[in-house]
Amino acid sequence: MDCVFCKIAAGEIPAARVLEDDAYLAFHDLNAQAPLHVLVIPKRHVVNVADEDADEALLGGLLDRARQAAKALGLELKGYRIVLNVGNDGGQTVRHLHAHVLGGLTSLQPSAVSSEVDDDGGAELSRSASVAGRHEAGAGSLRAHPRLPAR
Ligand code: 5GP
Ligand code: ZN
Repeated sequence: MDCVFCKIAAGEIPAARVLEDDAYLAFHDLNAQAPLHVLVIPKRHVVNVADEDADEALLGGLLDRARQAAKALGLELKGYRIVLNVGNDGGQTVRHLHAHVLGGLTSLQPSAVSSEVDDDGGAELSRSASVAGRHEAGAGSLRAHPRLPAR
């Protein structure tokens, strides 16, 4: 299957891995939209939360790994945002289920993230036009936590 996240999960495309177990992988986003921007994926190919194969157990595991990744990155106390984009109107560019974990948002100037800013000062996750085909050089298939603690 020609899926960039399946290839990352398989180690065919390198990524800066944060956490990994048999079923899930967390890695740094290639095009970070926040000081810390990690993606969490199931290793099994599922399109998004609307996919009938995305059952409760899989989605629960995804959220659990998202909070584990946030904790590992030192975000637990300050807080963070978990974003799930679903389909075209949801801005989903990679058709493999993933949760964005975004940290350090309040340390940004609003313009550094997006022109759309929440009332509370947080910034909406901005979209990159074409990212699905990009490949990442760097960390390789590390199973440890190569970029911890948070930069
Ligand atoms: P979406 O727009 O589908 O919710 O988010 C897809 C995310 O995947 C984007 O934030 C994009 O930067 C990231 N991405 C796309 N291709 C790669 C890649 O090859 N490596 C990594 N690390 N991130 C990627
Ligand atoms: Zn996939």
